[in-house]
Order: sequence, then structure tokens, then C-alpha cells
Amino acid sequence: MKRLVVLGAGESGVGAAILAKTKGYEVFVSDAGTIKPAYKLLLEQNDIPYEEGKHTTELIVNATEVVKSPGIAKETAIVQAIINKDIHIISEIEFAARYTNAKMICITGSNGKTTTTSLIFSILKHAGLDVGLAGNIGNSLALQVAREDHAYYVIELSSFQLDDMYDFRADIAILMNITPDHLDRYEYSFQKYIDAKFRITRNQTASEAFIYWSEDPVISREIEKLRPSATLYPFGSSATHNVAYTDGQNLTICLPHHSELVVPCDSMTIRGRHNQLNTLAAAISAKLLDISDQTIREALTAFNGVEHRLQYVATIRDVRFVNDSKATNVNSCWYALESMNTPTVLILGGKDKGNDYSEIDNLVKDKCRALVFMGLHNEKLHQHFDSFGLPIADTDNIADGVRAAFDFAQAGDTVLLSPCCASFDLFKSYEDRGRQFVEQVKKL
Ligand code: ADP
Repeated sequence: MKRLVVLGAGESGVGAAILAKTKGYEVFVSDAGTIKPAYKLLLEQNDIPYEEGKHTTELIVNATEVVKSPGIAKETAIVQAIINKDIHIISEIEFAARYTNAKMICITGSNGKTTTTSLIFSILKHAGLDVGLAGNIGNSLALQVAREDHAYYVIELSSFQLDDMYDFRADIAILMNITPDHLDRYEYSFQKYIDAKFRITRNQTASEAFIYWSEDPVISREIEKLRPSATLYPFGSSATHNVAYTDGQNLTICLPHHSELVVPCDSMTIRGRHNQLNTLAAAISAKLLDISDQTIREALTAFNGVEHRLQYVATIRDVRFVNDSKATNVNSCWYALESMNTPTVLILGGKDKGNDYSEIDNLVKDKCRALVFMGLHNEKLHQHFDSFGLPIADTDNIADGVRAAFDFAQAGDTVLLSPCCASFDLFKSYEDRGRQFVEQVKKL
């Protein structure tokens, strides 16, 4: 009997374990941390043996194959032991895809994955298709395949998931952009991170589609180099060389053999140039799936955005508050600032991942009325921004951060939480940071 060992008992690991069990594998789940009670219950209900708080090598290196959670780094001792035994390590998505014939629409990139994935999912739902949401958001693909397989899946893929994918083939692959991120997991090599992202085109042939932002210099360079076999669907801000583009007023999608679709930017709730790009990628996918122009338009108008991504919170004494807590790198803050059309008080700071803040210098100078630093270590922010001559508040908690921002703001301004940093110095997660921000704003 084939033995599948699952490392990491989160959403993806537990899903993979249950699918493997239904397919007749002997399954064992191992998690070095504490397993959430709901997941333990699922494992017990399915008679799947597991351990927590440790990895017992003998119970793991006798596997035929290992499914590894994307959160576990390759350098970990147990992963090294598995590699030394020549045991194949795959991701949950790779495993689940073996057991479904569904059409796979996969989205990756450094920024914009969740928004684009959610947009595509809502268009497909609106069109009445039988669709599941999977990957970094939604439920585990494997669990859906085991319990209620769908005809389509929209899957958000991180570089870590792509690392462990080999035979998987996306029917539609989308690459939004590539900027340095997570380099600590790629031996500080940007190229290795780029290579991981490009694995989304692996196994694709001319029958499959590769949709990408053509103005990203990294993506264009790699395409020149790799010449992917998929049919290419570039999008950007000019009509030349792109099958879809935005001129800031309208989105135009004109794929070969399809009707031309024009969507006014004003008709959509989500704002900012980055969201226009996300919408172009989503609309190309929808057209490739032969969804009608009217359905696409309706779904785009109805889409309200995703929590913690430029989410409007409230207007208090004529000051708008916007929660962009998911902006955990400098590039996403750039897009958030770029989309601001009022003077802005920017709240930033947190756990710095080797940030280079110079990317937002011009936007900070043009758009910011004041800056609020919010983190345990604000020294690097001071070094970078103090010379700009803007009013600056130094805070180390959300209540003081929000209060200071409100004090700086004038009627008509926006207070924007777009931290450029991870949240783990003061908060449990970016979601926790966003929720606490919303709570504090409501107390003002
Ligand atoms: P991801 O899932 O890749 O982290 P999200 O859709 O959650 O991306 O958006 C995260 C942040 O990135 C948003 O708060 C926004 O500021 C920024 N962002 C969204 N789309 C894009 C894009 N296409 N290009 C650059 N930045 C973006």
C-alpha cells in the first residue's frame, strides 16, 4: 500500500490527508506545532493517525510520497531528511489535481493575487458555473476534490506552492507581477523567486493560456528568455502588443475571435490603477471561458473588493479611513498611494523584511500630509523619511497610531493604513492588524 505522509496539519494538509485516505493510501500527518482543534477532529473522524509538537523521523521517511505545507521551509531538518532519502515532495495542489478533470484557473504574482482570484471567482459564480475557490484562499483544493468536486477551480498560488508542483498544468495561468518578496526563502536570490513564479507555465501547451502584465520588466525579460509554449495574453496600459489595456478611463478587452468588451473604470467599486490591472486579467480569463460581456460587466460592477485591501472603513469629520493592512511590502504601498486622490496621512511600519523605501519616495512627497510610524522598531523609517520635512508621529500601538493620524488629518484628507511591512511585531497577522485598525477608527 502506498504511504502518504503529510507535513503540516493546516487547511491544505488536512485536505490532502482526507483525499489520500479516500483514494486508498495509508496516511500519516505530522505537525511540529499545535494542530487546531477543528482539524484534529477532522483527522479523527476520518481515522487518520497524526502527531503534533514533533516530527518523528522513522514515521516520515518510510513514505512513498510527502505532501508538504507551503509554510515549511526546505531547510527544515525533517525536509532535509526526506530529500536525503530521495522521497518525492509535492504540494497539496499537485496531489489534488491528480484526481480531478476540472478546468484550473491559477493566479500568482507578488501582489494582486487575492484580489484577482476573488474577482475571477465572483465572475464565474455570477455566470452560474460550478466553481470552487482554492489555494491560499478558500478551502483546500484536495478537500473539495474529495467531497464536492467542481467543474472549475480558481486557485491562488504562492511561490511556495509552485515550488512543489511538477506535473500540474494550469488551463489558464495568470502572472500579475514580480517584485522582490520572501527572498529569505530563496537563498536571497531574486532569480530563484522568479523561477518559482514562472513554474505556473510549466507543462502548458498552445492549447492553454498564459495571461501576464506585459509592462513588468522582470516578466518581459523572462518571457524573452523562456519563450513559454502557452498561448500568450499580455495586458497593460497601451493598445499595442496587448490584448487588454486600460487608459485610466476605460478597460478594453479585445481577444482574437471574441467581441470587444469595454468597461468604464467608474462603473467599478474597486479603485486604483492596480485594480484596473487585476480586472484586466480577470476579464481576459472570463472571455476565454466564453462568459458573456453582460455577465462580466455585471459581476465587475457588483464586486466590492476584499477585506484589508484598500478597504474603505469610515468617514469621520470628513476624514476618510482606508484599511490596506495587506500591504506587507513596499510595492503594494506604492499602488495604494498611487490610487489616493486626496492628501494622505500614511500609517506605516511593522516587521521590516529588508525593505527599500525609496520606491515610494516620490509618492510620499507628492501625496502625504504626514506620516505615522507604527512598529516596535521605527529607526529605519526615521532614517529614511525624517529628511522629507513632513510631520511624523512615532507610535508603537494601534490606538496611538490611529489617534496620531486623525490629529494630523484635515477635512477632505484620507488616513491610509498601508504598512509596507509584516505585522508580526505588534499583531498576530495582517488580518488582526486590519481589524484592530477598524475597531480603533470606530472609537474615534
Ligand atoms: P496578494 O494576494 O498577492 O498579497 P492582494 O490582492 O491581497 O495581493 O493585495 C495586496 C496588496 O497589494 C493590496 O493591498 C494592494 O495595495 C496591492 N495590490 C493589489 N493588486 C496589485 C497589483 N496588481 N500590483 C501591485 N500591487 C497590488
